[in-house]
Amino acid sequence: MTARRSIIPVFVPHLGCPHRCVFCDQRRISGEESPARPEDVKKAIMEGRARLPEGTGATLAFYGGSFTAIPVSEQEALLEAARPFLLDGTIKDIRLSTRPDAIDWSTLERLKHYGVRTVELGVQSMDPEVLRLTERGHTPFDAENAAKMVKNAGFELILQMMTGLPGDTPEKSLTTARKFTELRPDGVRVYPTVIVRDTPLFDLWRAGLYREHTVEDAVALCAEISEIFDAAGIPIVRLGLNPTEDLSHGDAVGGAYHPALGELVLSRRYLARERALLSERDRGAAVTFAVPRGRTSAATGQKRTNVETLTREYGLKGVKFVERDMPEMSVEALRGV
Ligand code: SF4
Repeated sequence: MTARRSIIPVFVPHLGCPHRCVFCDQRRISGEESPARPEDVKKAIMEGRARLPEGTGATLAFYGGSFTAIPVSEQEALLEAARPFLLDGTIKDIRLSTRPDAIDWSTLERLKHYGVRTVELGVQSMDPEVLRLTERGHTPFDAENAAKMVKNAGFELILQMMTGLPGDTPEKSLTTARKFTELRPDGVRVYPTVIVRDTPLFDLWRAGLYREHTVEDAVALCAEISEIFDAAGIPIVRLGLNPTEDLSHGDAVGGAYHPALGELVLSRRYLARERALLSERDRGAAVTFAVPRGRTSAATGQKRTNVETLTREYGLKGVKFVERDMPEMSVEALRGV
């Protein structure tokens, strides 16, 4: 697993983006109106430093734009602003997100020079048709090529994918996940599509040209995607958009927006394991499941949905959970308890 780090986020909404992808409005998604300038970087670090426990260095993270597509002098000014804090240990390293078609060797050399350790690539899909319909402006080949260059240059690589995009299908998303595992990223972010107000996707949806990717669609699909990444030993560092005031109060008009999407997906994965342990001989019985410590709530499901589903499907008299020292995601049915 990638160790958890204290993050000082700096948002550069749409900075460097050659155009707008149909689903995207970084201002509404990040809640930040304008891109950070070098003085904002310094301010964010100093404010972040005040919140950090003594002696812990943080990671400075540039999010929300296409960092390596920003004019070089502006990239350097932003990175230069962080340099004194790297030297005094306030910041341990830097991460940034960018587009696959904005990576080349000279760019990677520059990032290394300024102390960048992690590069996140917004790939979104490995399906050419989905990339075309979402107006991404790059190909699956660009993504594969950029991912290999980032890894070969010694950076930590995080790949971002989305589900439920225009032209997407669950099978295409599963294929994207499988192709990601071949690129051996150090982590992935999975973002089910949210319809954000006033984006081109919002217009397509209102015109009836795009079918909403619901929370339920996303939970079912992301449970399968999580199994693929888990089996490959690749951590999912984020599942679902970070909730913001703007999104929660009207800017997320549809799609898979849920403040606890990751929890819902985890519960669905436990439900699959619980289901697999039951058979006709359990019909009408009371069942006790052993689950890993701290996982009773995930195994029960939000508002007891897992318990209700199993009770309905098997006419169970009761469902109980006991916590044991067991590996994450393992479940055992205890009979005669
Ligand atoms: S998805 Fe990425 S490249 Fe596309 S507009 Fe948003 S920030 Fe820019």
